[in-house]
Amino acid sequence: MICNICHLEPGSHSLRKISEKDNTTIYYTCPAQASKYYDCSGIIHHYDNELQTITTEKWIWIMDCNGFDMKHLMQAQVGIGLGELISKKYSANLEKIYVINPNWYIYSMTSIVWPFIGKKVRSRIVYDTNKYITNIENLDIIQKIELNE
Ligand SMILES: [Zn+2]
Repeated sequence: MICNICHLEPGSHSLRKISEKDNTTIYYTCPAQASKYYDCSGIIHHYDNELQTITTEKWIWIMDCNGFDMKHLMQAQVGIGLGELISKKYSANLEKIYVINPNWYIYSMTSIVWPFIGKKVRSRIVYDTNKYITNIENLDIIQKIELNE
């Protein structure tokens, strides 16, 4: 069930499933890789479309802020829309939101989005400031972090 816009123009939006094991689905997004980073309704539809396909007990969202800058921060509606979508429809089985390569722009986006997201979603955000998860290929690291909690 691929989003129509990405079907016609691959890479328009950025959210893809990278792993599905141990009852956990892991999604990865890097807004700077999305050519249509300003396409608010399309992005929300893309996420809704994707997150509906989760069949595991839990899911993890890895948000890679590499290249996230002012032009992304200007799209506050995208952040607010996604925050609301996830809070309302997909927070029950949300395990963690790992923000990797965080920078000033993403901290600012988070404070803009903060009033629009639920308590559960707020409590799941982890900033990977120590670069534990920078190498997303090494998913074992994520599981080790889970075990340490
Ligand atoms: Zn899409």
